[in-house]
Amino acid sequence: MNSLSLLGSAMSRQKISNLSKAAVISIGAACIAASAFVLPAAALSPGYLFIVLFSILIAPRMTLSLPRSKFAISFADALIFLTFLMYGGPAAIVLAAVEMLASCLYLRSKGFPFSPQMIPANVSINAIYTSCTFLIWQSLPTLTSIHFDSTKTASLITELGILALSQFLISSVLAATFHSLKDGSPFWSTWKQDCFSSSMTQIVGAGLAGLIFKLINYGDIVTSAIAFVALAAAYLNYRQSIGEINDAIAQVESAEREKAEAERARRVEAEGHADELGVALEKEEMANEALRKSEKAFQHAALHDSLTGLANRKNLWGVLSNLITEYKEDPSTAFQVLFIDIRSFKNINDSLGHSIGDKVLTIASKRFVRMLGPNDVVARIGGDEFAIVLRNLATAGKAQKVARRIHQNITQPFALSGNNISIDVNIGIAPCDAEYNTPEEILRDADIAMHYAKEKGNGFAVFTKELRHRFLEQIRFEMDLRHALERNELSMHYQPIVSISDGKLIGFEALLRWQHSEFGNIPPNKFIPVAESSGLIQPITVWILRETTRQLAEWQKIGPEYHDMMVSVNISGKHLGTDDIIDDVENALADSGIRPETLKLEMTESTAMENAEYTINLLNRLKQIGVQLSIDDFGTGFSSLSYLQRLPFDTLKIDRSFVYAVGENGENSEILQTIISLAKNLKMRVIAEGIETHSQLAVLQNLGCDYGQGYLLAKPKSKEDTEKLLYQRPRWIPDADECEQPSPLNITEHRVLVS
Ligand code: C2E
Ligand code: MG
Ligand code: MG
Repeated sequence: MNSLSLLGSAMSRQKISNLSKAAVISIGAACIAASAFVLPAAALSPGYLFIVLFSILIAPRMTLSLPRSKFAISFADALIFLTFLMYGGPAAIVLAAVEMLASCLYLRSKGFPFSPQMIPANVSINAIYTSCTFLIWQSLPTLTSIHFDSTKTASLITELGILALSQFLISSVLAATFHSLKDGSPFWSTWKQDCFSSSMTQIVGAGLAGLIFKLINYGDIVTSAIAFVALAAAYLNYRQSIGEINDAIAQVESAEREKAEAERARRVEAEGHADELGVALEKEEMANEALRKSEKAFQHAALHDSLTGLANRKNLWGVLSNLITEYKEDPSTAFQVLFIDIRSFKNINDSLGHSIGDKVLTIASKRFVRMLGPNDVVARIGGDEFAIVLRNLATAGKAQKVARRIHQNITQPFALSGNNISIDVNIGIAPCDAEYNTPEEILRDADIAMHYAKEKGNGFAVFTKELRHRFLEQIRFEMDLRHALERNELSMHYQPIVSISDGKLIGFEALLRWQHSEFGNIPPNKFIPVAESSGLIQPITVWILRETTRQLAEWQKIGPEYHDMMVSVNISGKHLGTDDIIDDVENALADSGIRPETLKLEMTESTAMENAEYTINLLNRLKQIGVQLSIDDFGTGFSSLSYLQRLPFDTLKIDRSFVYAVGENGENSEILQTIISLAKNLKMRVIAEGIETHSQLAVLQNLGCDYGQGYLLAKPKSKEDTEKLLYQRPRWIPDADECEQPSPLNITEHRVLVS
């Protein structure tokens, strides 16, 4: 049933209830009027008036409420029954109406809420059921053979029983009907639950009425007094008991209410505590969450590089340790490690600043990540050093493909803060191997391969045992070279440089020699690169400058013809990269006392061109000191003509490969001719190195080459042997019959590239 139909049924019930009330009031009024009309004059006796007055004034106040019941024991019933017996039905009906009116008014004065229709309705109901009882009581003797004789106790009891029963039945049925009409409850259950117990009041009332009737009619004064006292005592006793019971019930109810109230308060308090607990738990959960987050952040920071967000060294160590263990157990889980170094990253930092340098590293990191699979790991392990772990990659060949891809991608230029930047990388590849036990070992080998790639200059290289051998040798060399100076293992050899036109000695090229205590003589092309990569070249060159200038100063004094003799010292590109060279040269000149123009500094074409603007500036400063400058091994590198014009070189030294190419009959001399005429145009003197044959010398003489150096003239010799020669004053250009066979040239490639 929905709420609308519920509302509808409630409204219709209200209507029926109102209608039935109106009907009852009408019938009740008729009953009262009829009773008053037929009321015999005899009924208006003092006794009846006493009963009426008693019903109005006393009886309502003597009502006893039955504990825990909707009913009360009223003296009205006893009075109505007594009136029935003594003054007849109409008198009883009027009394019933009057008594109910008095009770209602009394109750209303005590605060009982009566609706406007309730009092007339109650009065009418009382009048109606008393009228019905009267009708039954009156018709019973005619309907049955019963003849009432109130003087006989048995008849009196029957009369009172009939009165009580009919009063009870009619009043209870009417009351139940009213309740049902009013609230819609079923009639039967309402009657049983609420109205049946009212029989008590009728029975008690009937008993009381019988007793009073007997006393009034047949009792003497003493008996009546005793009965009255007994009744009063019983009433008072009963009233007191009921009062006590009601008090006790009230106390119990109050205690129950207090208990319920306390429980409610406890429940509210408990709910409050539960809420507080909830809030506290929520706060704790939030604190835990924050803790978990900061723990995660700490863990992330501990394992990642703060600039690029890539895995850091520690993280990489963990990954590699696991992979090494896995690979030992299951060789199918192959992996490859790439060691990557950004070429000349220092230059970016120095020239564009560290914040640009940081951005370059971030861009490079992103490019690495983009080119790899989700299982691969990229880590930043140093300033410009990265490592990549390629998982599940069986062969180094596949790793090379990845390295090639990385190399191609990373060299794509990009714009940053208005600068067009392009970077290059060296990549070393180390394939996994069962011999690796720690991450250091595999990374060390990837690093070795990376250094080899750097040397080769072609981007990437795969590690081999041979590379490790070379690397270890280099390390060993490096260590030994550090001590070579202190142990006097380094010495200078001198190779004469002769004027081709007149055979005059113009000076020497100083060439470094290393007599290793264990390995004997080590050629410069083996140890010079080690000296350069380790940074030892600078202190060694300082020593060479001091040693050769001091030596020259001595030799210049041997004779006047040696007065202008010069010494040529090879300067490494690494040394030229620093301003220290200026001080180092000045110090050597100052210490030896030689004239600056008798010291010549040689640097290779590649070195001069590598950072041409910087070199032009540095060489001009050296020129200001007064020293001479020579470009060495000309023709083996890439020269820019415009730079060549601006570089303040005094002499140009033709690489010996071009001299070597000249045949017995002077063939293949075209390049020599080109270089010589270029040098002349640039106002430079020309030296040809590596002259080994007379025909080579003859070609050079014909081409107008200024100076010559080579085994034909003299091999590099120790200072003692050179000094002996200086004193011997030999002819530096031998006769053609002293011909020597050319030594095999170790150079397979030569070229001249002038743009
Ligand atoms: P370089 O500066 O071009 O020196 C000339 C090289 O040619 C020397 O080799 C010399 O011995 C060799 N040579 C001279 N004439 C002939 C010849 O007729 N035939 C042949 N086959 N070779 C000839 P060396 O002394 O072995 O030096 C090799 C390179 O090592 C030098 O080439 C130079 O680049 C470097 N080097 C030597 N000494 C020094 C040094 O003191 N400092 C620096 N930075 N580098 C040096
Ligand atoms: Mg040289
Ligand atoms: Mg040379």
